Amino acid sequence: MAKEHSLHRDNAIVRLADGTVKQKNLLTGTEVWTVPGRGHRPLSVHPGDAHPLNPAEDGLHCDFCHRRYLETPPEKARLVRNEDGTWRELRSLTADELGATTAEFRRIPNLFEIVSYTYWNLNHGHVPSEAEHRRMAEYLSSDTGYDHVMRVVRSRLAASGLTAAEIDAMSDSEFLQQANGFFSGGHDVIVARRHFVDGATDDTQLAGSGTLTPEEHFRYLDFTARAMADLYGLDPAVRYVAAFQNWLKPAGASFDHLHKQLVAIDEHSVQTEAELTRLRTDPDLYDDILTVAVTRQLVIARNEHAVAMAGFGHRYPTVAIWPLHAPANPWDVDEERMRGVSDILHAVHAATGIDVPCNEEWYHRPPDVVTPMRWRILLKWRISTVAGFEGGTRIYLNTMDPWAVRDRILPRLRELRDQGAIAPMLIGEECHIDPDALRD
Ligand SMILES: [Zn+2]
Repeated sequence: MAKEHSLHRDNAIVRLADGTVKQKNLLTGTEVWTVPGRGHRPLSVHPGDAHPLNPAEDGLHCDFCHRRYLETPPEKARLVRNEDGTWRELRSLTADELGATTAEFRRIPNLFEIVSYTYWNLNHGHVPSEAEHRRMAEYLSSDTGYDHVMRVVRSRLAASGLTAAEIDAMSDSEFLQQANGFFSGGHDVIVARRHFVDGATDDTQLAGSGTLTPEEHFRYLDFTARAMADLYGLDPAVRYVAAFQNWLKPAGASFDHLHKQLVAIDEHSVQTEAELTRLRTDPDLYDDILTVAVTRQLVIARNEHAVAMAGFGHRYPTVAIWPLHAPANPWDVDEERMRGVSDILHAVHAATGIDVPCNEEWYHRPPDVVTPMRWRILLKWRISTVAGFEGGTRIYLNTMDPWAVRDRILPRLRELRDQGAIAPMLIGEECHIDPDALRD
């Protein structure tokens, strides 16, 4: 067994004589090659010409901006900052109350759900709970709330291809039926306040995860984790809640405005099933991955509660952020651990830079699984790949090997730490990871 193990680890990353790096993802089996000479292209998609910002348009740049609260579906919750710097959460505001405070982060239903309310309703008999019914009735009881819901339903119907005449022919009760998903749906968006950084003068100065303060980033993560837990309670048929962040259009974002998405689904993900199958025969897989990262010098940063390492066996250049100690789901960790994970993820975002399109993907243990799967977060830089070769071979070409990812990020992390822009942490060779790092 031990021999098999070391073989398994030794084959995870192999550098051949010509410089080609072959990697195998130990959790999914995905095979990835990095061939020499393809990795020198710049990471970022050229942002195009900078256009000066018009101060009169502050808060109006896109539907997620703070002066357009009525263009997204009715808000479920928001985090606001008190004058003394403390934070509080406001839930179930009425439409008339939305403008009374400025939300640092809002949780709103996605206007275009990936898995719709109708899906849950027709396939699982899902209907709004007592509390959701009451909330909907309360929201609709004011003129502002009623008009808001009707307008948002109308714009969704128009976007789905209905003509103005078809929409006009619908009755009010048909309209209201369409609004159920805003109060009892399973696809939420967590939206940050800023579109551009404070004091931005042109439209290239976007506000991303890395431009938040460490404190703001912690609130963002904590709020997201609690919304995940909440979505598991949406319906007994919910088996997984996918959490992700798409940054910039090449990574699939509709708006260049920072947000995360949460989608409840009625199955485990394919990734979850593949990982479970491997873990059953090989329960030490997570330790193996960490061992590979340590022995091949892929560790990027760490603090007491989390480690960042250059990922291997991924289709895109990837940084993996792993909470340390015993496995725990995101909504189960205490504040100190959440801050630890948040600080490392924030630092990796900051070092990546806002001009790099990326996907942040969360993995965790579905509550109906007992195998101790680990919560972890992958940050994938969406740089082009070679589709024809990959489709035909199922071998993926990644333009940067893990060491190139590490080397790009380390100098920037040190600069950011010197500037005090990220929380204190150990970087690169300062990191020591002991063999028990994934235990209590
Ligand atoms: Zn915006």
